Amino acid sequence: MKISITKTTNSRIEGVDFDNLAFGRVFSDHMFVCDYKDGAWQTPQIVPFDYIPMHPAMMAVHYGQAIFEGMKATKSHDGTPLLFRPEMHAKRINKSAWRMCMPAFPENLFLDALHQLIELDQAWIPPQAGSALYIRPYMYASDEFIGVKPSKTYKMVIFTCPVGPYYAKPISLLAETKYIRAAEGGTGEAKAAGNYGGSLLPARLAQEQGYDQVLWLDAKEFKYIQEVGTMNIFFVMNDKIVTPALGGTILDGITRNSLLTILKDKGYTVEERPLSIDEVVKAHQAGQLQEVFGAGTAAVIAKISKIKYQDVVMELPTDNSVGTELKATIDGIRAQTTEDKFGWVVPVGAMQTV
Ligand SMILES: *Cc1c(COP(=O)(O)O)cnc(C)c1O
Repeated sequence: MKISITKTTNSRIEGVDFDNLAFGRVFSDHMFVCDYKDGAWQTPQIVPFDYIPMHPAMMAVHYGQAIFEGMKATKSHDGTPLLFRPEMHAKRINKSAWRMCMPAFPENLFLDALHQLIELDQAWIPPQAGSALYIRPYMYASDEFIGVKPSKTYKMVIFTCPVGPYYAKPISLLAETKYIRAAEGGTGEAKAAGNYGGSLLPARLAQEQGYDQVLWLDAKEFKYIQEVGTMNIFFVMNDKIVTPALGGTILDGITRNSLLTILKDKGYTVEERPLSIDEVVKAHQAGQLQEVFGAGTAAVIAKISKIKYQDVVMELPTDNSVGTELKATIDGIRAQTTEDKFGWVVPVGAMQTV
């Protein structure tokens, strides 16, 4: 399908201060939009960024049939716009779509949309080191209808936001023993909008106790560690790297997957397995808990300075050697200053079909 392109005649880029970008509040000139109706995706379009009118009965806002992705475009040291593992995002949005009973979006069209949108708005990729153009693809149910059933129409949208270097202050976590994020059989593995709505109250309660975010435990026993906010979590214990195994309740993070690949390549001992909070407490008491960090597209690596579980407060060192090394490797691959051994970086315009 050929994407129709309508360019803006009124670019807003001159008014943007690329040295002071508020995360998620500055939007670039164009967006991609594609409607699904009569059982098929209609003509894909790139149009000037604008409001999308909404019917009051639009299904997504009533019943939560809505999913999203988050990814980044960066510039190589020579100015070429680059995408990072875009095909993984094309696949993941369709896994989320499947779970939420939504139509798949053709992967090649998703990639084509990314390439053309980023090509057109490449001037919006901030050149400063650590900055990026954050890309937000999302799909939602657009039927004008009241009643719980799958929508017959959907909208796929992709817009972008220039973002500054994510100021990665070490964060503190409160292990949650009352509320849950996801249960086995639920939607935890999908990047579904409702998962995040449900996480806000426990996050606020954690903040009232002085913690930045919630460390989610499993829904059955409140025993096994799941993840954090929009990040997967890694523990360096006794010179091994341990991260909770995927099992349907946690998001299959592309950063997580990339870090596991890099760690194995660098010769670290890596374990993906169920990890109980008790094991972490024991390791801490034995002086074997060396570092903990979160992993996700926005921050890449977020150092964790403190974890509270019941009455135990674990203070953690944040002069992290493993986390720092991983962040430097990923940032280097993204800037094309570190060898891209695994072929993760795709120059915009050089689309590979899947
Ligand atoms: C998006 C997300 C992640 C991180 O995934 P990446 O692909 O690495 O950005 C982890 N957990 C949750 C719940 C998420 O929504």
